[in-house]
Amino acid sequence: MSMHTWTTRAVHAGKDDLAALGLHAPPIDLSTTYPSHDVVAEAERLDAFAEGHDDGGPPVYGRVANPTVRRFETALAELEGADAAVAFASGMAALSACLLAQVAAGRPHVVGVRPLYGTTDHLLSSGLLGTSVTWAEPDEVASAITDRTGLVVVESPANPTLGEVDLRALAEACGPVPLLADNTFATPVLQRPITLGAGMVLHSATKYLGGHGDVMGGVVACDEPTARALRQVRFMTGGMLHPIAGYELLRGLATLPVRVRAASATAAELARRLADHPRVTRVHYPRVGGAMVSFETSADPVALVAAVRLITPAVSLGSVDSLIQHPASLTHRIMDEVSRKDAGISPDLVRLSVGLEDVDDLWADLTRALDGAGR
Ligand SMILES: *Cc1c(COP(=O)(O)O)cnc(C)c1O
Repeated sequence: MSMHTWTTRAVHAGKDDLAALGLHAPPIDLSTTYPSHDVVAEAERLDAFAEGHDDGGPPVYGRVANPTVRRFETALAELEGADAAVAFASGMAALSACLLAQVAAGRPHVVGVRPLYGTTDHLLSSGLLGTSVTWAEPDEVASAITDRTGLVVVESPANPTLGEVDLRALAEACGPVPLLADNTFATPVLQRPITLGAGMVLHSATKYLGGHGDVMGGVVACDEPTARALRQVRFMTGGMLHPIAGYELLRGLATLPVRVRAASATAAELARRLADHPRVTRVHYPRVGGAMVSFETSADPVALVAAVRLITPAVSLGSVDSLIQHPASLTHRIMDEVSRKDAGISPDLVRLSVGLEDVDDLWADLTRALDGAGR
């Protein structure tokens, strides 16, 4: 497939073997177990899986691997320009596996670049999985790394401020320590961090990859040795992606370029219009583009979110329909006020996930809500 353009690959990736199987849509394999009368061969296979290998053969057991999930992994790896990808039940399950793998390797220290997704920040701050964290600005990362550092974690554009980091420069500053870039917001349509030097790319597949607000998942794209370490953790801790979710995510990838480009065009136009609105004090829209817009408002942000009618007031993002939320009240509530301030998350900030509705309908809903939400 690699001789085709990226957009074409997004439609066909992970499906190369379907025609030979006489199929058009990918099959959903819901097996929790796989029969075998050859115990010796089965034991050998299980040993290989326990070491993180996945040769594409029968998975032995449903927590270990799954053919439908593998199709999504193959496709996502291809689209991110990675050797491999490992899928999990959620974005947080994917991040947990990355952290547990580095703890198992004896490098439990993480360098984190804020802002990060609220629960990512919370997981790192809490040390729940045996990691410790040093928070650093991008230009402080090199000096924050020690011989016990297993990972540098960054999000660009970041949730919810849409702040951007020069990933190429940051990857260089990391030296031999892998840079884990959360690419949930940009998606591989707009940015492929592995091509910029990141060692691992993480997605909350719940967002744009699924794209319809009806599937949870997470995935890490990386090199094969790292994938083996992640599969070992998944094997032991059980954060496997469900096969139906794997099917939905593979289907989502086929329309990802079209959805992201259309929603990005609308978001860029809304960002331009918001910048001229008298009740908007600041607009955040990343250079890389994308379908997320954040803005600070002199209106009451809670009343604003409550006043929309077409847009849905809800956390999450990346769906075909537009969603709006107040980060200080919801997604980033779990951070304490000082950390929130350090991360540049103003109490007046509102985050908008732009869907595929018509731009004028969205604008009418937003301006009506803005105009009615005085304080
Ligand atoms: C939602 C999100 C996550 C967490 O993913 P889940 O699928 O909700 O577990 C991680 N990073 C970013 C940027 C997110 O938006």
